[in-house]
Amino acid sequence: GTLSAWVPIMYGCNNYCTYCIVPYVRGRERSRMPEEVVAEVRRAAADGYREVTLLGQNVNSYGKDHGQADFADLLRMVDAVEGIRRVRFMTSHPKDLSDDLIRVIKENQKICRHLHLPLQSGSTAILKKMNRGYTKESYLDLALKIRREIPEMSLTTDIIVGFPGESEEDFEDTLDVVRKVKYDSAFTFIYSKRSGTPAAKWENQVSDEVIKERFDRLLKEVQKDAANSTKKYEKETVDILVENLNDHMDGYVTGRMSNNMVVHIPGQKSLIGKIVSVVLDEAKGFYYMGHMVESEV
Ligand code: SF4
Repeated sequence: GTLSAWVPIMYGCNNYCTYCIVPYVRGRERSRMPEEVVAEVRRAAADGYREVTLLGQNVNSYGKDHGQADFADLLRMVDAVEGIRRVRFMTSHPKDLSDDLIRVIKENQKICRHLHLPLQSGSTAILKKMNRGYTKESYLDLALKIRREIPEMSLTTDIIVGFPGESEEDFEDTLDVVRKVKYDSAFTFIYSKRSGTPAAKWENQVSDEVIKERFDRLLKEVQKDAANSTKKYEKETVDILVENLNDHMDGYVTGRMSNNMVVHIPGQKSLIGKIVSVVLDEAKGFYYMGHMVESEV
């Protein structure tokens, strides 16, 4: 959103997923020093930002290079900055997500109830070819642990369909993970060759017809979960951070819940930047219509 200050905490990536060009163009992971990040967050708060988004290709491996603080430590420091009401971050690599991180999120209400946890594939064999560093089972353990520990957490993901060598059985494993995790939202991608990456040179590319058929099946599955997920909070009272005037409806403003869901409410420009308490009257697919019950909570 427009009210979030975007703060890079690290650059580069060490993971070399076989379909991705990032490590070749951005180089090895370099983490910024924690005090430098905190100073930038303080400046953002002084400039009027109420939300901060910490950015990195793999925030969960933050600090492994300098050893001064890991990502959980950094979140604790950012959480303590006065004036900041919400802390978001991305992206989280499933292989490096620690129990300490789950604990920090659980214990600090400022840290948003939204975790983007890219799956890419649910097949252990394909994950190995992708060089992702986790298995179907370890991913499921992690996702279900998060569901258990922080039930209000919204879980979103990225999935690639048609990675070279993906069999029907591999694809079924992906569907199985989707059914078990029930993502609140999922971005689905058709595998596309990136020249310069190992996977682009592999022979066993999946045919376009097969990819299309799998993509449609996957989409149906994720849309079902997303629809259920949006209905989940209907009639409840939640806090939203108001971000802007509504583009389509006069006299309305738009904000987001801690879990990143969008809510439209009747209201004026003066509410922008404030956290207000709203009742979610009606779920409308990917957003809610609501009304304010208390301003400035
Ligand atoms: Fe790194 Fe993400 Fe690319 Fe993998 S997909 S190499 S983790 S940037």
